[in-house]
Amino acid sequence: MSHQERIRVAIIGAGVVGLTFAVALNALDKDRKIAIDLYEAAPELAEIGAGINVWPRSWEILKQIGLGDALIPLFDHHPDLEPRVIFGVRKGDQKDGFKIHDVTNYGGALRIHRADLQKSLMEHLPLPDSTVADIKTLCTLHLSYRLLDYTQTTNTGSSGGSGPLTLHFAGKPSAVCDILIGADGIKSTVRQLFLSRLPNPQTYERFLQPVWSGLVAYRGLVAKEDLQKALPGHRALTHSGLMYSGKSRYAVVYPVSGGKFINVVAIVHDKSKDTNVWEGPWKVDVPQTELFEQYAGWDEEIQALISCIKEPTKWALQSLDNLDVFAKGRVFLMGDSAHAMLPHLGAGATVGIEDAYILASLLTHPSTSRPLSTQHVNLLTNIYNTVRVPPAIAMSKSSNETGYFCNLEASGFEGYMEGDDIPMNLLVGAAHAVERNWSWTTSDPEEDRQRAVTLLESPRAVL
Ligand SMILES: Cc1cc2nc3c(=O)[nH]c(=O)nc-3n(C[C@H](O)[C@H](O)[C@H](O)COP(=O)(O)OP(=O)(O)OC[C@H]3O[C@@H](n4cnc5c(N)ncnc54)[C@H](O)[C@@H]3O)c2cc1C
Repeated sequence: MSHQERIRVAIIGAGVVGLTFAVALNALDKDRKIAIDLYEAAPELAEIGAGINVWPRSWEILKQIGLGDALIPLFDHHPDLEPRVIFGVRKGDQKDGFKIHDVTNYGGALRIHRADLQKSLMEHLPLPDSTVADIKTLCTLHLSYRLLDYTQTTNTGSSGGSGPLTLHFAGKPSAVCDILIGADGIKSTVRQLFLSRLPNPQTYERFLQPVWSGLVAYRGLVAKEDLQKALPGHRALTHSGLMYSGKSRYAVVYPVSGGKFINVVAIVHDKSKDTNVWEGPWKVDVPQTELFEQYAGWDEEIQALISCIKEPTKWALQSLDNLDVFAKGRVFLMGDSAHAMLPHLGAGATVGIEDAYILASLLTHPSTSRPLSTQHVNLLTNIYNTVRVPPAIAMSKSSNETGYFCNLEASGFEGYMEGDDIPMNLLVGAAHAVERNWSWTTSDPEEDRQRAVTLLESPRAVL
C-alpha cells in the first residue's frame, strides 16, 4: 500500500508506552496499511531511569510483538511460570529487622534495567535503517518535536464526520494525521487539549494536572561489589527482591542488569506538607545525607544500601485521579497520559503496554481502513474506553491500597509508631493483602485483546 493510502497514526511521546505502541503496530500490521509518525519533544531518545518490573502478563505481550529473544538475556531470570518470590517482606524500621512473609506469585517479576528495555524497543522500531525490525509499517521518527496544539478539519464529505487532525509543534512545520495518540506522559499536552475539547470540559478540570500523593520516592542503583564491601553477605546480594516495610516509609530492592546492580526505591510519606500540589521540579538530585536522615534508626541492611547510593534522586509521586475517558474523536490517550498511577504495584508501564497492544490490534484489524468513517472512529473509541478504562482505574486504586499496607498505614496500624513492636498477625495480614494485589500479574492479556476484537466484529454492545 502506498504511503498516501495508509492510515496515518501520529504518536506523541517516545517513552516506554509510545515505543511499545509503534512496535506493536508494526508487529500486527499484516495488511501493511499503517504509517506512523513518532514525535518526541526531546532531541534524542534518551535511556532513563533505573529498574523496572515486567510481569508475566506484560511479558506475554512483549513476546507477541517480537521482543522475546531480545529481552530474555536482559532479565534477572529466565521467564517461566514457576512459583517465585516477588519480595521477601521484612520489618525494616528497627535495628534488628525480621522476616514477615515472602510475597509470591507464579512467574515472579522479571527485573530489567529500564535503559535495556527502552533500547530494545528502539531497535525494534520499524525505521528504514533498522537491522532488527521486520518492517511492515512505515515509521518516521521526529525528534525535537514538541506538540503545542491540534486542530480538526470538519469533513463534509459522504461520511459527514470530522476529518483528519492537524498537529502544531513548537518551531516546526505542522503535520496531518488520521489518528492521534497521546503517549506523552503524566503532564500530557494531548490530555490537556483533549479534555478541554470534551463536552462539559469543566467536569474534567481536575484531570488537567496530576495530583501529588504526599509521597516521595528516592531512587538509586547500587553496584553489587560496593554492597559486598559495605555489608559482606548482605541479603540483597542473593535475593530475588526484598521489601523493608516500616511506618510511613518502605523500600524495595531488586537486582537489575543481570545482577550487576541492585535497584533501590525508597518511598517516604512526607507529612510536612499539607497540599496535593507539588511545587518545583518533580525530580531532583539530593545528598546521600537526606536519605540517611529519612531512614535513621532502620535496619543495618537499609543503612548499608544507602551508603552505596552515590547519587540519589528524589521524585515527587503524583498520579491522575481516575480519569474515566481515554478516547474520543480521533484522539486516544495511553500510558501515564491516561492513567498515571502510584508505583506501589510497579504497574504503570504495564498497563500502558496493554493499552498499546489492544489499540494496535484494533487499528490493524481488517475492518479498520482509510478513509476512516466517523462511525468507525466512534466504534474504536467506544471499545477502547470500554476495555481500557476499568482495568486502569482498578489497578490505580489497588496500587494506592498496596501503598498503605507497605507503609503500615492501612486500617489496624493507626496506633503504632515507627519502630514499634507490631503483632505478627497484623504484619502478615498486610503482606497477604499485598500478595493478593499482585495476583493479576499472571492473568492472560489475550483475553482482553480478544474481547476488544470481538466488540469490533459485533459492536452492538458498545454503540
Ligand atoms: C519510582 C517508580 C517506579 C516505577 N516502577 C515501575 C515498574 O516496576 N513497572 C511498571 O510497569 N511501571 C513502573 N513505574 C511507572 C512507569 O515508570 C510509568 O508508568 C511509565 O514510564 C510511563 O511511560 P509513558 O511512556 O506513558 O510516559 P513517559 O515515560 O513519561 O514518556 C512520555 C514521553 O513523551 C514526551 N513528551 C512529553 N510531552 C511531549 C510533547 N508535548 N510533545 C512531544 N513529546 C512529548 C516525553 O519527552 C517522554 O519521552 C514506576 C514509576 C515510578 C515513579
